Amino acid sequence: MTKIPYRFYLTEDQMPKQWYNLRADMKEQPDPMINPATMKPATEEDLYPVFCKELAHQEMDSKTRYVDIPEEILEMYRIFRPSPLIRAYNLEKALDTPAKIYYKFEGNNTSGSHKLNSAIAQAYYAKKQGLTSLTTETGAGQWGTALAEACSYFGLPLTVFMVKGSYQQKPFRKTVMQTFGAEVIPSPSNTTEAGRKILETDPDTTGSLGCAISEAVEKAVSTEGCRYVLGSVLNQVLLHQSIIGLETKKAMEILDVYPDVIIGCAGGGSNLGGLIAPFMQDKLTGKADPRIVAVEPASCPSLTRGKYAYDFCDTGKITPMAKMYTLGCGFIPSSNHAGGLRYHGMSPILSKLYHDGYMEAISVEQTKVFEAAVFFAKHETILPAPESSHAIRAAIDEALRCKESGEAKTILFGLTGTGYFDMTAYASFIEHTMGDYIPTDEDLQKGFDGLPKIPGLQE
Ligand SMILES: *Cc1c(COP(=O)(O)O)cnc(C)c1O
Repeated sequence: MTKIPYRFYLTEDQMPKQWYNLRADMKEQPDPMINPATMKPATEEDLYPVFCKELAHQEMDSKTRYVDIPEEILEMYRIFRPSPLIRAYNLEKALDTPAKIYYKFEGNNTSGSHKLNSAIAQAYYAKKQGLTSLTTETGAGQWGTALAEACSYFGLPLTVFMVKGSYQQKPFRKTVMQTFGAEVIPSPSNTTEAGRKILETDPDTTGSLGCAISEAVEKAVSTEGCRYVLGSVLNQVLLHQSIIGLETKKAMEILDVYPDVIIGCAGGGSNLGGLIAPFMQDKLTGKADPRIVAVEPASCPSLTRGKYAYDFCDTGKITPMAKMYTLGCGFIPSSNHAGGLRYHGMSPILSKLYHDGYMEAISVEQTKVFEAAVFFAKHETILPAPESSHAIRAAIDEALRCKESGEAKTILFGLTGTGYFDMTAYASFIEHTMGDYIPTDEDLQKGFDGLPKIPGLQE
């Protein structure tokens, strides 16, 4: 290979046919989920009322290293995958850095993000089990859009509870979902018990991801043949998202390069978990030792300032409790513009790896993120999602450090999506009205005070 191309695509027969389950290579497993009804470790059967069977199985399966991707899913993957691995020549030149910067671009589908990778899998398994409808929540709108696409492909009715702040900020996101046939309800709503309770105490709330999850879960458990699906955090979602990392690793093998640093934004941890999966495997098995960096917003700092504790995955406290880095399921972050990163917890798998020292985490402020986003857009021609721009910020800073030290490091980051529906955010950056809200220790303490008590485990 003489010169690395700008955009590198795997051919169809080079595409992965299996997902990779990172847990199979972890020396220590994440702590088991706890069923709040029994206060005992949850069993696969405990999850059946909430998740469909195959996904409940994937959630609990920590042993199967490689999972065959069903042909029906591969068929839809082929419509928008492989995603390109891009060498950021222009960005490198603009930064005048000796670093070599690569990014895996997941924004080339209508949902505008990596979320379609798991949406397809979840809709497929639900359909296969004979379920008749799905519910979910969406923050920024990408997950709802991805699932709406997947559900219309497999012919499943879908109800989306959309965080009210986003619903108002991004009316066209709602319209895209409706175009694909989904019903979209702003959350909190008065259509559920959980929503009504939250509205009672705080009628003007702009909502939160956790609260929308509670509403969606409640609708699922109270509707015959309906299940709830979640676009991040869960082990099953990280499994599906491993397609990102597997494609990246394969492409890098063909190009004969290996990353020194891997950077990803982290909301619930699914794109980062997916991107790093096969590289973390190298780390866990002693084959290589890349640095891995999670980037989160300073306004919602679950890894960098959260507690490693058992917590509910939702504000309504219906889901099982998972041990993870969390700000407390009652924590409602300020309405920053990276909706996809406004989640109180973090993937239990990533939380465990972070806790055990396999990865690092940093937090960045919103205006710094948008500075990086605009710089990136100008040089790489892609208008990045605010979420993805957290990773761009960190990658640029790393490349600038390389410039100082003269090191020609290979940097890989995940460009999770495009920002076409985030023009309100870009406008507030351009017009200098954007703020950098950072919660105080007292704000965070309120969230920690609400952590659940579990006899013998967490007093
Ligand atoms: C949802 C989303 C994220 C954050 O979710 P993770 O589960 O942490 O990956 C990041 N980028 C985009 C574009 C998203 O839509």
